Amino acid sequence: MRQLRISPGTANATAFAGLLDRVAAVGRPKAVYEVSYVEDRADESVVVDGARFTSRVLRRNLDSVERVFPYVVTCGTEADAVTVPDGDQMQAFWLWSIREALVDEARDYLYEHLADRYRLRHWAVMHPGSGDADVWPIEQQKELFSVFGDVESMIGVRLTDTMLMIPTMSVSGIVYPTETDFASCQVCHREDCPRRTAPFDETVWQAVWGETAHT
Ligand code: SF4
Repeated sequence: MRQLRISPGTANATAFAGLLDRVAAVGRPKAVYEVSYVEDRADESVVVDGARFTSRVLRRNLDSVERVFPYVVTCGTEADAVTVPDGDQMQAFWLWSIREALVDEARDYLYEHLADRYRLRHWAVMHPGSGDADVWPIEQQKELFSVFGDVESMIGVRLTDTMLMIPTMSVSGIVYPTETDFASCQVCHREDCPRRTAPFDETVWQAVWGETAHT
């Protein structure tokens, strides 16, 4: 409520609490992951569980990594099915924020689970479609999903023709052990992004792209 600037004791607070209760009553966030191994490396791609991931950045980040953890996590179809009255933009935004918080918590839970179970002291994550378009192209969602089989029957997440995930509050990626901090935001030129977690890093950018012309 603080984040959404809803003052306690107001009508909005009551309405928000009611919406939150409705989502909490049905919400079932879910995740699927694999323990996978890098099977092959080429100049700008790696093969993981038979899927070729084409990304110069990922290839570089997995240079000395063998075991990786591809995953998909979602707020769940149940929370996605909750609705608000047509035209109520405020409640629609609240609902969007609640679902976002749900998938963020589920993702953090998954990361803790992986770190604990597989003794990961330090790790980083990459997501298809995060950062500049050519960092790890969004089209690679298809390859990532192929690692799991039928993701929709497992956790209810499907890909659209444009490679977006439904429910939209879903996150896919690959967790890998590393001693070097990395965030896609370091190689993303997008300005004023509210979800940026690290500043653009020219050094990292140059290390990946070298002499290649990128503007
Ligand atoms: S700055 Fe924003 S768009 Fe770019 S990678 Fe980070 S979160 Fe994604």
